Amino acid sequence: MASVDFEHIDKIYPGGAQAVADFNLAIANGEVLALVGPSGCGKSTLLRLLAGLETATGGILRIDGQRVNELSPQQRNIAMVFQDYALYPHMTVRRNLEFPLRMRNLPGADIERQLAWAVELLGLGELLDRLPKQLSGGQRQRVAMGRALVRQPSVFLMDEPLSNLDAKLRVQIRAELGELLDRLGATTLYVTHDQAEAMTLGDRVAVLDRGRLQQVAPPQQLYERPANVFVAGFIGNPPMNLLPVQLNAARDGGLQLRLGEQSWPLVLPAITAEYWRAWLDRPLTAGIRPEHLTLAMDEAGLLATVGDAEYLGHETLLHVRIVGLETPSPSLTLRLPGLRRFQRSDSVRLALDGAQLHLFDPDGLALTRGPDQQTTTQNAT
Ligand code: ADP
Repeated sequence: MASVDFEHIDKIYPGGAQAVADFNLAIANGEVLALVGPSGCGKSTLLRLLAGLETATGGILRIDGQRVNELSPQQRNIAMVFQDYALYPHMTVRRNLEFPLRMRNLPGADIERQLAWAVELLGLGELLDRLPKQLSGGQRQRVAMGRALVRQPSVFLMDEPLSNLDAKLRVQIRAELGELLDRLGATTLYVTHDQAEAMTLGDRVAVLDRGRLQQVAPPQQLYERPANVFVAGFIGNPPMNLLPVQLNAARDGGLQLRLGEQSWPLVLPAITAEYWRAWLDRPLTAGIRPEHLTLAMDEAGLLATVGDAEYLGHETLLHVRIVGLETPSPSLTLRLPGLRRFQRSDSVRLALDGAQLHLFDPDGLALTRGPDQQTTTQNAT
């Protein structure tokens, strides 16, 4: 297996569309890197650049330290799994698996050895004599992976491999795939538009928007410390609540969050208060996750009006609007445990924990909470 480096990669398609701009990313040997972003953000372009199906218009692409910009797909020893598994329908699983090896004119003993390795790894032994139409969606997926793996490629590329499956199967196969990728220890670039898939499968997750890398971090860090408003709103379901605020100095010398006509005293670590004080009286965006907004038990909370409530059984998603914010006031979502009954237009009081609050500057970049909480964006690295 091998490391992969994208260094200042640009891709401008003929006709002038810039699909990727100054993209920098190092994937370590054996790492599963999930690349996620909305449709059209440049994910497939990056994957195709690495596979050698497209040529970069700028920058250097390396596999195991060697520049590969000019190498053909065959010379790169990369394997791809696409969303349509493209198994040969008239061939048995065994023939499908052997096919890439036969194409390379490998000696029979080598074919047998590599086949046995992939069959063992993926648990395909029982399926070898079946045709693709006799397999379940998940089994077809495993055979497609097996066919990509038998060649023992140095890098493994997966392009939305689960997107053709129905929701239930998807979750099941996602778990199987996660376990398999762990076992494999292969350098993998996994492309998806589904943030839940990226978060569960990636050792690290790279978030892309309009051809630019927004943040790359392990899943937990991405969730807890989004580098900018885009990542904050993209990662998490339901997404982080984002709303216009100001920081003001309170009479007692502390900081308070101003939301339209209401304000909320912030209890913050001293160092965070010190960093945030530089942003007093400026228009900022506040971010708070649905699980970190709670109902206040007293009259001191922020006054809000109930829109509607979604009863999901184990939890209730409550949608509210803060009173006194300029219209159109954004709807905020609270995630409350268990079954909770509300009427539309009910008044509620909200509480938020300063330790769980995110603030973003007028350019959308996260404000630092302290010296060890620096978030990394492409520009900052
Ligand atoms: P994603 O995989 O994230 O959906 P793509 O990498 O397919 O995004 O596309 C990124 C951008 O490049 C889009 O604006 C798309 O329209 C454009 N694009 C993709 N392929 C081509 C092409 N062959 N020619 C011109 N523009 C393209």
